[in-house]
Amino acid sequence: MKATYDAVIVGGGLLGSAIGFGLARRGLRCAILDEGDIAYRAARGNFGLVWVQSKGIGFPVYADWTMRSSELWPEFAEDLSERTGLSLHYARSGGVDICLSEEEFKERAAKMTTLTSHQNGKFRHEMLSRSDLAALLPGLGPDVVGGSFSPHDGHVNPLYLMRAMQQAFTRLGGEIIVDARVHEISRAGGDFVLGTKRQSVTAAKLVLAAGLGNKVLAPMVGLDQPVHPLKGQILVSERLDNFLKIPTTPVRQTGEGTVLIGNSHEDAGFDLRSTPGVMKTIADRARRTFPWLARARIVRCWSALRVMTPDGLPIYDRSETMPGAFAASCHSGVTLAAAHSLDFANYVAEGTLGNELTGLSARRFDV
Ligand SMILES: Cc1cc2nc3c(=O)[nH]c(=O)nc-3n(C[C@H](O)[C@H](O)[C@H](O)COP(=O)(O)OP(=O)(O)OC[C@H]3O[C@@H](n4cnc5c(N)ncnc54)[C@H](O)[C@@H]3O)c2cc1C
Repeated sequence: MKATYDAVIVGGGLLGSAIGFGLARRGLRCAILDEGDIAYRAARGNFGLVWVQSKGIGFPVYADWTMRSSELWPEFAEDLSERTGLSLHYARSGGVDICLSEEEFKERAAKMTTLTSHQNGKFRHEMLSRSDLAALLPGLGPDVVGGSFSPHDGHVNPLYLMRAMQQAFTRLGGEIIVDARVHEISRAGGDFVLGTKRQSVTAAKLVLAAGLGNKVLAPMVGLDQPVHPLKGQILVSERLDNFLKIPTTPVRQTGEGTVLIGNSHEDAGFDLRSTPGVMKTIADRARRTFPWLARARIVRCWSALRVMTPDGLPIYDRSETMPGAFAASCHSGVTLAAAHSLDFANYVAEGTLGNELTGLSARRFDV
């Protein structure tokens, strides 16, 4: 079987779904090819923060791109909800990074100052003392020294987000082809030909958004996506009365009432096991932040693999040797979903990348 499209996106995770939706909205006839549920997929295991206050410290280009996405998020969420009738449980509520020692507080304050200097004061935050925080976050434990609050932050249900992007994509005529691991990419008459076990797909434009799969696929179109896995573990409580209106770094409450507690950063290769030692560390920090959480029952835990780059910044590239091919990898696919769908997809449609992304090319690793 052979099918032809204007654009084909490899990977149906958060990046592929956002970019696919953006391209379909521009009127391109698109297909998303996805390996399926056995693949590593960070999109199904993340924490759901739309987070600005820790992104791009020391890297203004990334700080700006994150801020851009956070500003686009309200319009993006509204558009998705209107198109699909689905609520994403999105709120640009502001968010708090909790500090459990004076040292953490000082370190945090210094980082916030750096971030403000990158953005000429555009980035807003407040370092809140324990008593200020207590008014915002009821039930704080005695170990909490304070925290940084930023109004740019927010959160969303990442699974509803995926569902809405994919539904909006298919309503615009896009096709999602599952169980379709791309193992080969070639050129024929200026088009890309993608081989999967059941069919071959042809398209004038190609976007590689296959998460950890990008590493193997990118060289097929003259690109480099040096990504590696970084494990994160998350605990989920039973549903509780609504107590937390704004998300914090160790704990956020979902619209349904469950509390997500996380999340770790472990270099463990492709090992996806949840481990008691790490779960204990995560739970301890949450319990020190909100002591009464110790009485809540944990009903679920999981681990998932982040799509990490060597310096932690996203990678966006356009192939010089195979015009029409693009690749994108990042570890903040929730936060950046709006920028991917509204800006990056436009760049793909127009065949060029915006100047603001120049510093985020994989060429930065060519030393
Ligand atoms: C524990 C944890 C917490 C996180 N918390 C947050 C957060 O709070 N906020 C935030 O912004 N981000 C967070 N993230 C990161 C976010 O989840 C990722 O940035 C995002 O999921 C990456 O999306 P992706 O589409 O690139 O990759 P994935 O979601 O991994 O999707 C890749 C897709 O590509 C497909 N694929 C792979 N190879 C092929 C192939 N050869 N052919 C066809 N398809 C292929 C797979 O089937 C998969 O569906 C977190 C991640 C983790 C692990």
